Amino acid sequence: MRFSTMYIKENTPLSDFSTFGIGGPARYLVEVKTVDEVSEAFAWARDLPVLVVGNGSNTLFSDDPFPGLVIVNRIGFCKIEGTLVEVGAGHSFSLLGIHTARKGLSGLEFASGIPATVGGAIFMNAGANGKETCECLHSVAYLLETGEVRQYLKSELEFGYRHSSFQSMKGCILSAVFLLSENPAARKAQLAIVERRIQTQPLKDKSVGCIFQNPSKEFSAGALIDQCGLKGHSVGGAKVSEIHANFIVNHNRATARDVIELIRQIREKVKEKTGILLEPEVRIR
Ligand SMILES: Cc1cc2nc3c(=O)[nH]c(=O)nc-3n(C[C@H](O)[C@H](O)[C@H](O)COP(=O)(O)OP(=O)(O)OC[C@H]3O[C@@H](n4cnc5c(N)ncnc54)[C@H](O)[C@@H]3O)c2cc1C
Repeated sequence: MRFSTMYIKENTPLSDFSTFGIGGPARYLVEVKTVDEVSEAFAWARDLPVLVVGNGSNTLFSDDPFPGLVIVNRIGFCKIEGTLVEVGAGHSFSLLGIHTARKGLSGLEFASGIPATVGGAIFMNAGANGKETCECLHSVAYLLETGEVRQYLKSELEFGYRHSSFQSMKGCILSAVFLLSENPAARKAQLAIVERRIQTQPLKDKSVGCIFQNPSKEFSAGALIDQCGLKGHSVGGAKVSEIHANFIVNHNRATARDVIELIRQIREKVKEKTGILLEPEVRIR
């Protein structure tokens, strides 16, 4: 149905909006390209539950219908002035890493290959190669539930390992400003990061990246799962990747129930063998 400049779809499969390719239908779904459209979508939803998503690369949608409105953030502008980058929350985080590195700007090289939106990367404080999204973040524009747009400086926000203040808020990240530094070696570093990803991750399979957080700097979740002999272990159509044990791949029409049961079995086995209880990184919705 048409509402203002937007088209609100009904009963849309969420499997098309997650890199896992899993999920039941959303009662309503809208793809928004401007701040006004995000605002209008929230107003349209009124008392319905609202879920904002980016590229669905860290989201396992339930097999059951989502009873409210899913807002897919597609605000995609990008302005670079000197070392300041202002970018829409729906812009590809990976392309941002590539684009800035090509311009000889350093700080977001690690983003290349992370199939996120900028909003999803800030929400999760995505990281790789010893770097995290918050490090070169300057500020974030955020739509509060009340409909008011607020600018947050990084110093007003909290970030940790795969954690941000936004995880306990109910609005929508609209855009962000990153402060990078000039470095002619940025492109070379970024290309090396992509090469390493190609060598170590199952990029041809449907997944949401690492399923579990690393329990500490000394222990990686992937190594612990591997030690327990779980590579290749499957439940229904969901399987522990043979390439990277912290990835679950949808190899044959997996359901969310398959993935959740596989997560349960991995946690149980790792706890039994190593005493460590793994915590999921994936957001289950
Ligand atoms: C092949 C592969 C490799 C990966 N490698 C990495 C890696 O190296 N490092 C890493 O940290 N992660 C990695 N990931 C996981 C994933 O890309 C990140 O967690 C990423 O930050 C998720 O971004 P997204 O836009 O897809 O978010 P989504 O999955 O769409 O959403 C994630 C969460 O953020 C919320 N959200 C999204 N956008 C907004 C917004 N605009 N406003 C408010 N809330 C929002 C959603 O509600 C949800 O709770 C990988 C995934 C894959 C498939």
